[in-house]
Amino acid sequence: LLPIIYAITPTYSRPVQKAELTRLANTFRQVARLHWILVEDSAVRTELVSRFVAGLTAAGPPCTHLHVPTPPRYKRPGLPRATEQRNAGLAWIRQRHLHAPAPQPGVLFFADDDNTYSLELFQEMRTTRKVSVWPVGLVGGRRYERPIVEKGKVVGWYTGWRADRPFAIDMAGFAVSLQMILSNPKAVFKRRGSQPGMQESDFLKMITTVEELEPKASNCTKVLVWHTRTEKVNLANEPKYHLDTVKIEV
Ligand code: UDP
Ligand code: MN
Repeated sequence: LLPIIYAITPTYSRPVQKAELTRLANTFRQVARLHWILVEDSAVRTELVSRFVAGLTAAGPPCTHLHVPTPPRYKRPGLPRATEQRNAGLAWIRQRHLHAPAPQPGVLFFADDDNTYSLELFQEMRTTRKVSVWPVGLVGGRRYERPIVEKGKVVGWYTGWRADRPFAIDMAGFAVSLQMILSNPKAVFKRRGSQPGMQESDFLKMITTVEELEPKASNCTKVLVWHTRTEKVNLANEPKYHLDTVKIEV
């Protein structure tokens, strides 16, 4: 049996949300044994996302729909996003395996809703024993960032931003085995003491070392995931009166 891949996706309400989730579902349903943990940044499960999840057919992907709101004081530019949502996903996974003596092999990764994922990426991360890493395209003010690999080991980071971080890697650039998540129950994303852009590094510091990292994607020479960002939609011509006669969810 293939190890399960748990994909934790934080998501929040905005005009492009349903389009992003649709793209993501179209990718994920092509991946065997993938369990999608969709965590809404919201005080309730919204109707839009609930309907979307209900509409995921037997073709998948299997989806668990969670929600937790970001406290308003943390909704500010320059502060890390989706901390509480990623932690809710981690807590769900840990809770689920609480009473399982020997957990089935599994892999967890953090899949933001606006990135672009190749199917090959999932083949690569599936064999993660502890923590695996790979390049990320279109990130950090560069065409790509990547772990630098020598003799099969990570020895540094090709990045345009704070290469002195212990793990100078984007959220989309690593996966962690279920085993490591369960054996390090205190590993969560921190608000306090975590500087912007240090979330990934602070998290990985709690569960692994650079020497231990498993390079994927041909010794980190291939880009299989892209940190794409969707343009803010222009709604300048939305009517204030003479509204449409039907109410349509977009
Ligand atoms: N996100 C969220 N709440 C927010 C802002 C973002 O849950 O207030 C989610 C978003 O849907 C995405 C992830 O957090 O899955 C990262 O956000 P974003 O893509 O805006 O970050 P960036 O691309 O700038 O790293
Ligand atoms: Mn993004």
